[in-house]
Amino acid sequence: MSIRMKLIMAVTAILAGTFVLLSLLNYNVSRQKIQEDIVSSALPLTRDNIYSEIQSGLMRPIFVSSLMANDTFLQDWASEEEPDIKAIKRYLAEIKDKYGFFSAFFVSTQTGNYYIPDGVLKKVSRQDEHDAWFYDFIESDEKYALDVDTNEAADNFLTIFINHRVKDRNGKLLGVTGVGLNMDKVAKLLASFSKKYSKEIYLVDLFGVVQVHSKVDLIENVNIKYVPGLKDIAGQILVPNSEPEIFNFSRNGEKEYLTTRYIPEFEWVLVVQQSEEKALAAARDNLVRTLIAGGGATLLVILLTVLTINHFQLRLERQAGTDTLTGIANRRTFERHFDDAMLLFQRNGTKFSLILLDIDDFKQINDSCGHVKGDSIIKDISSTISSAIRDNDFCARWGGDEFIVLVDGEAGAALSVAENIRSSVCSSHKCSLGSTETETICVTVSCGVAEFENGDSLDSLAQRADKAMYESKMQGKDKVIAG
Ligand code: GH3
Ligand code: MG
Repeated sequence: MSIRMKLIMAVTAILAGTFVLLSLLNYNVSRQKIQEDIVSSALPLTRDNIYSEIQSGLMRPIFVSSLMANDTFLQDWASEEEPDIKAIKRYLAEIKDKYGFFSAFFVSTQTGNYYIPDGVLKKVSRQDEHDAWFYDFIESDEKYALDVDTNEAADNFLTIFINHRVKDRNGKLLGVTGVGLNMDKVAKLLASFSKKYSKEIYLVDLFGVVQVHSKVDLIENVNIKYVPGLKDIAGQILVPNSEPEIFNFSRNGEKEYLTTRYIPEFEWVLVVQQSEEKALAAARDNLVRTLIAGGGATLLVILLTVLTINHFQLRLERQAGTDTLTGIANRRTFERHFDDAMLLFQRNGTKFSLILLDIDDFKQINDSCGHVKGDSIIKDISSTISSAIRDNDFCARWGGDEFIVLVDGEAGAALSVAENIRSSVCSSHKCSLGSTETETICVTVSCGVAEFENGDSLDSLAQRADKAMYESKMQGKDKVIAG
């Protein structure tokens, strides 16, 4: 694996790793906070809130029942052996309408008549199991009692009755009066709380049977003793007069929290249940959002890193293959081009040649004109060579005052390219030794040409070209000689 790849992978791993780790740590902290919140405030507060709503909802009917029981009209009317049915009907209708109850009633101990606003509903009897509440109540020594019952007067709807004893002035029992509340109201209250607090809220009796639930089809049909998860703690929940407690259990692999409160008036238990999953939904959505944003940012950083690395790598490569003084290719780049040309020769037989050029008497130029001028002459000659060669030829600085050209074609083509270079250099480059024209010398180059032959290497070919160039020097310089 390349260093570049390793670097990119390390940056990715560090960025992504740190990000995922931080996000998960954050999520874990929120999760713990939410769990603590459920146990220490959300559940107990909801439970106690609903409990007091139920309690305060019951205060009014209890108060009204007590008013009815102490009403002299009712006492007198019952003592006078229930003379006018219209009067009691009107009385009960007024109570029912004025306070908005589901029903108002009076049951006489003397006649057994069960009066409601519409008239006499029935005669109570010990044989009718529906009337058991009446006999149970009058035989108890309670002043008033709550009774959850089906209401025969209204298609057996679940209703809470508040029953109150009615006595005459001598303390003789005249009957039982009171009002009925439709359980619908309690169910609606629980449903609105369920929605508001996003919790499941319901009432169960001490046998575990659901009595009030926002999902009506569960009422009387579900027993928590048989509900998976719940059944394990049902024994601890269904205890009369138990203290409010918080439980947790697992349902379908998800954790659920639950709290209960015993309602003595009904002998029922209020259950408030909260799924951890639902409570964590917001935190989880947040985690997903953070991870997506972090992933995007990581990708962007990686992209920028790759682009920056590529940019600098390209620049370095270019620098490493370029001669700093002239800006043309150096020996290293030339070697690559030579290898490519050799491959082409082997594959297609494409012929190529070399020209080796050396500036004549450059030491003297340096000595006479100075090193800086010498540098500038090297630069100028490199430009002249670049302009004199053809598109398919390639030139490089070979070192010192030497240049090399890879020429596409046989020695003949290379000779003409070399001649072109030689004449361009000779005609355009001068070096003034003094202030007058006579003290000006022309800069010339000697060129050696050699054509690539099978079995040649760069060294062997360059040696032949070098030999030819040397020959040119021998013959008086400023010449092109083929090797
Ligand atoms: P000849 O005609 O036989 O080539 O004689 P010459 O004086 O050119 O001798 P040679 O080619 O051996 O010497 C090259 C000189 O070029 C030697 C060195 O001082 C000079 N030189 C090499 N590189 C540079 C450079 O980058 N800048 C300058 N100014 N001079 C350089
Ligand atoms: Mg030289």
